[in-house]
Amino acid sequence: MAAQDPMPPLSTSSTTLPISGTTLSTSSIFNPDELFKNPVFAGGIGLAGLGAAAAAGRRGVIAGAQMLRRRLLVNVEISRRDPSYPWVLAWLSEPRAPGGFLAKRITRIHNLSVATATKSMNPSSSTGGSHNSPSNGLGNLGSDGPVQASFFLQPGYGRHIIQHRPGVFIAISREKQSTANMATGEPHETVTLTTLYAHRHVFEEIFSQAHALAAQAAEGKTPVYSVQGMGWGALGEPRTKRPLASVVLDRDVKEHIVADVRDFLHRHPWYVDRGIPYRRGYLLYGPPGSGKTSFIQALAGELDFGLAVVNLSEIGMTDDKLAMLLMKLPRRSILLLEDADAAFVNRRASRDPDGYSGPTVTFSGLLNALDGVAAGEERIAFLTTNHIDRLDPALIRPGRVDMMMRIGEATSYQAGQMWDRFYGDIDRDGSGRARFLQRLRDLRLIEDEDSKGHAGDGGTRRHTSTAAIQGLFLFNKNDKEGAIGMVEGLIPRQFEP
Ligand code: ADP
Repeated sequence: MAAQDPMPPLSTSSTTLPISGTTLSTSSIFNPDELFKNPVFAGGIGLAGLGAAAAAGRRGVIAGAQMLRRRLLVNVEISRRDPSYPWVLAWLSEPRAPGGFLAKRITRIHNLSVATATKSMNPSSSTGGSHNSPSNGLGNLGSDGPVQASFFLQPGYGRHIIQHRPGVFIAISREKQSTANMATGEPHETVTLTTLYAHRHVFEEIFSQAHALAAQAAEGKTPVYSVQGMGWGALGEPRTKRPLASVVLDRDVKEHIVADVRDFLHRHPWYVDRGIPYRRGYLLYGPPGSGKTSFIQALAGELDFGLAVVNLSEIGMTDDKLAMLLMKLPRRSILLLEDADAAFVNRRASRDPDGYSGPTVTFSGLLNALDGVAAGEERIAFLTTNHIDRLDPALIRPGRVDMMMRIGEATSYQAGQMWDRFYGDIDRDGSGRARFLQRLRDLRLIEDEDSKGHAGDGGTRRHTSTAAIQGLFLFNKNDKEGAIGMVEGLIPRQFEP
């Protein structure tokens, strides 16, 4: 048998490729041995292997660090939307160590930001009884006049480390997010506190300290909210509570309203059991300057509530905006809807055929906002108007307006009470008070005590406002004779000769 030819090599053709100064032979049939013998290829593989190992190592280290972090560290993230956000920042900015602002407590913060709190020193913004100007019951924040400012340093954006107690360090990371609050346009922010797992209990301590600090700062204050953008915003710094006694209303009026509100506040379970929205509405009407706004602000202070104010005649106030505002009422706040008659004026105003009357609140918009599905479940609302005749009886329904009260021109009872508040200490025998009241009666500015509501001599009543009397007393501080001498100045202009 003829010897068989050996099997022809499988590789028949081969090419040579120059690669980086060396040559690599490839054959049309893959030969791994050949490949690995090539130093460049083997080197490449080696490097790639090292790279992969390094990457895997890095991933391992990161995962390990993350695991360690998870096991050893605890994070608490607080969003700006959370009520505790300002408390925590205030807590962080609180000077602790004697002899140094932020000393000790903030051990490694190199990036601080400043928060400025301003307070108008204009007497109109002070809510203390006899210091108010007769312009507006809520004072005049933002008006000219000297401004008292205090500055607080807070951790700025970025990472910081503070020492809370000896041996307890907390890392703080304050960050701005890329999203923003739709209503105010302010970017969202978060503060993250990180500490060792073993020290996790300090967070409870920090939050209760921050809360106590906030409660202490808010004590004796009434936060006032106004419409900002599509939502609510604080109107300046919380104001010093106005004492109820500083608002002088006619006999028993104040007591009657206060008792009703207190009774309502005790009846929460009654409403819940019956599935009735827990709402109560009050309508205060009467001429301007009679103390309606001042009373509501004082009442909010008395009950430890805030005050959320919307002026219905405000430009740009629409039905939708009003509904949204009532849906998102700041917590524990009394709602004050000023100039309630604006909605009724708009109803009568000429409209387009499609019913559009411009960017204003309409009557149905007001009713919807007050009792529509979107309205908040819990609410105490006060509506005020100087023009009761413009309102619609449909407003007087449980939950919309449960109680109506006229806060009118000054009565002799109020004039006497106000005198006592201003001059009680220098008019001990009450003779000045008697002369003052007599002068008011002579000028027919107040009624005779026994002929309620009628002018003493049967002539036309002229009326004067409590705001005007307060203005007279403010002008004659500690000068009772001066006040009596100027009573004529209280005659309203239309009656002046
Ligand atoms: P209204 O809301 O009825 O227009 P305000 O409450 O705005 O009146 O009062 C305007 C100013 O007059 C405030 O500074 C307030 O202190 C003072 N004032 C008016 N009425 C009274 C009152 N009855 N008692 C105490 N202050 C009053």
